[in-house]
Amino acid sequence: MFQNAYLERVYSDVLKNHPHQVEFHQTVLEVFQSIEKIIPTLPHFEDQGILERLVEPERVILFRVPWVDDAGRVQVNRGYRVQFNSAIGPYKGGLRFDSSVNLSIMKFLAFEQTFKNALTGLPMGGGKGGSDFSSAGKSEGEIMRFCQSFMSELYRHIGPDTDVPAGDLGVGAREIGYLYGYYRKLTNEFTGTFTGKRISFGGSLARTEATGFGICYFAEAMLKRQGGTSLKGKRVLVSGTGNVGTYAIQKAIELGAHVVGINDINHTIHDEEGIDIKTVLSIRSNRQDLGDYGLKHPQATITSNPKDLWKIKCDVAIPCATQNELGIDDAKILVSNGLMALIEGANMPTTLEATHYFQEKGILFSPGKASNAGGVATSGLEMSQNSIRESWTFEAVDQKLQTIMLKIYDACYEASVKVGEPGNLVVGANIAGFLKVYDAMLHQGII
Ligand code: GLU
Repeated sequence: MFQNAYLERVYSDVLKNHPHQVEFHQTVLEVFQSIEKIIPTLPHFEDQGILERLVEPERVILFRVPWVDDAGRVQVNRGYRVQFNSAIGPYKGGLRFDSSVNLSIMKFLAFEQTFKNALTGLPMGGGKGGSDFSSAGKSEGEIMRFCQSFMSELYRHIGPDTDVPAGDLGVGAREIGYLYGYYRKLTNEFTGTFTGKRISFGGSLARTEATGFGICYFAEAMLKRQGGTSLKGKRVLVSGTGNVGTYAIQKAIELGAHVVGINDINHTIHDEEGIDIKTVLSIRSNRQDLGDYGLKHPQATITSNPKDLWKIKCDVAIPCATQNELGIDDAKILVSNGLMALIEGANMPTTLEATHYFQEKGILFSPGKASNAGGVATSGLEMSQNSIRESWTFEAVDQKLQTIMLKIYDACYEASVKVGEPGNLVVGANIAGFLKVYDAMLHQGII
């Protein structure tokens, strides 16, 4: 797999010691393939056991989450918090509530988060958590009781300078409210231990929009520098209409893109007139079915297969749903239809095979850990505001977000140039993120 014997040994140990954790293997493989390009320049890399320490989470907390449903039956879910790496700051990363959650997915996300957070330039380590619980089909009371039970264990492991969770798939403002409320009750403290909070209890303006907006700011920088163009007038597809996808659609439209297709887990919407963001936002806030888009826009074609999205002709594709949602077959269709750029909005939404295919075909490609870092970066801004007991305006936060996204782009591009692969942002993001964590680990002793 690797030319370098040290990388080869540590990677085969990862496969052996973390069996069946395919998502975790995938993210480690991708990062190692990038690091291999700079190994000769790294002093004390092997004798300090950097790689062995890098792939082993500092701490994994796995716990029982019992709760009582509306029918009076006891339900038990599994809770996780993976505190992966705190070399550059307190653990930071979201909580995911989804039936697909397992230890492999938690570890992949926490590992990825470590480098993403490093790229933001803010002092945040990497963590992730969640549960195999899904809010879908549950009553408000059930969701609240679940969140309280989850927090009755997690509260002792987190804190404003220890570990600061936030949302992710299945965890939005509602769940964060229940989680934070119970945390506050248990600790008798009002601190910024959560981000993504409502504005009334310490949230930051623009945090809700930040991941989606940040993706588009990153896309603009990439298209300008590497393609001499912009989103304006481009045919764009966005997958996923959760918190990330929705605001990516909104900002892309604001920047003049023609968003012609979107999807969710049950539908693809193809609207040649351009997706109407107002309808999408109202469907989302009323927790309606995305298929209802057709009621207001009868000209749109709606199918029940989310994969149909990638068959729509486009210039730019922005997958914002979930890991490995876009495989090699989808990639081939997109390329044959004239795709110019792929910007990852979710965490690792493109399989490794599809990523390599896009790169071989000369498609501009941005990895999620760079292009979706605007969410966690704005969480970092929320932490700052909480610490100094201030709240900044929407415009001030949005301005800082834009500056951060441009800096992330520049850091990734410069790193790609340094290793002789200008424009390979996968390698650039991994190297720029890794070098910061490596330096911090190297100078703090063997811990
Ligand atoms: N879940 C988001 C991510 O994947 C945000 C994490 C945060 O704000 O802490 O980066």
